Amino acid sequence: MNTLKDRVEKLHIQFRQLLSEARGDASIAQIKAQFLGRKGELTSLLRDLKNLSPAERPEAGEVLNRVKNEMESEIEEALLAARQEKQKKSFEEKIDITLPGRRIPLGKVHPITQVLERATAIFFNLGFEVAEGPEVEFDYYNFEALNIPRDHPARDMQDTFYLSDDILLRTHTSPVQVRVMESKKPPVKIIAPGKVYRCDSDVSHSPMFHQIEGFFVDSGVSFADLKGTLTVFVHQMFGEETALRFRPSFFPFTEPSAEVDIQCVICQGSGCRVCSGTGWIEILGSGLIHPEVFRMVGYDPEEVSGFAFGMGIERIAMLRYGIDDIRLFFENDLRFLRQF
Ligand SMILES: [Zn+2]
Repeated sequence: MNTLKDRVEKLHIQFRQLLSEARGDASIAQIKAQFLGRKGELTSLLRDLKNLSPAERPEAGEVLNRVKNEMESEIEEALLAARQEKQKKSFEEKIDITLPGRRIPLGKVHPITQVLERATAIFFNLGFEVAEGPEVEFDYYNFEALNIPRDHPARDMQDTFYLSDDILLRTHTSPVQVRVMESKKPPVKIIAPGKVYRCDSDVSHSPMFHQIEGFFVDSGVSFADLKGTLTVFVHQMFGEETALRFRPSFFPFTEPSAEVDIQCVICQGSGCRVCSGTGWIEILGSGLIHPEVFRMVGYDPEEVSGFAFGMGIERIAMLRYGIDDIRLFFENDLRFLRQF
């Protein structure tokens, strides 16, 4: 009897030793088969029970069953631990939590977009609605309907990107004016921001740039309305203290026409290189819409009147931020763009 008990205990020690060295499900299953399988070492001891005398059998049976149960639960524990170990390993292989975090770079709104959005917001608050038009435009909308006849110098091939005789890249946002008036009855109060194209490139010209066009047509719209609107715009864009002046000018699609100057933002009017010593800087063109333009879209110039203005956004941004080369806006140099 003692010998059987000793053999069982010894077997259990051997079993635990092997189990503690086992790595993974397969080797644990192998140990299980070696001791508890049909031809396992403990199983054969159980089978030997019947050879013992009836007096010895109960105690030996008790020891054997206890060890068998212990072995079974130890196998279960080992399998569970192996599974957890495997999960932990695969998690650690995917995520090394000791690595420093990767910073997600935060983008910034491009300075041109900032000025465009600011200008749009100012006019929106004055009751203007936003309209858009195509960048590839018919000659008719870009020139003819705006009272710019075939022989006008503004049509010079050097200024305009023509795609065919009748189709071009729009040179200003003014065609939107014509398209809106063709489809809507007055009153119309619209701003049209967007990209325009001209065959020109130097420190103050880019072949692609942005404009914002605005116009208001109703009965009895006067030059005073234009002046009031643009005064609010200049004060909100450049500051309440910024002076502005209207200077007579000529555009084929407005009559009378005026260019608007603001007090030089660099020298505050005392005269510097940027304003050529005059103390003033031109920022936009404007005027009362030409009766011929109204006739082209089917409005009666005896019944309605209106004003229109257009400005280059890059020029506004250059003045607002004190930038002297327009090309900086389009080089996408992050050191430049991060400053805004
Ligand atoms: Zn100046």
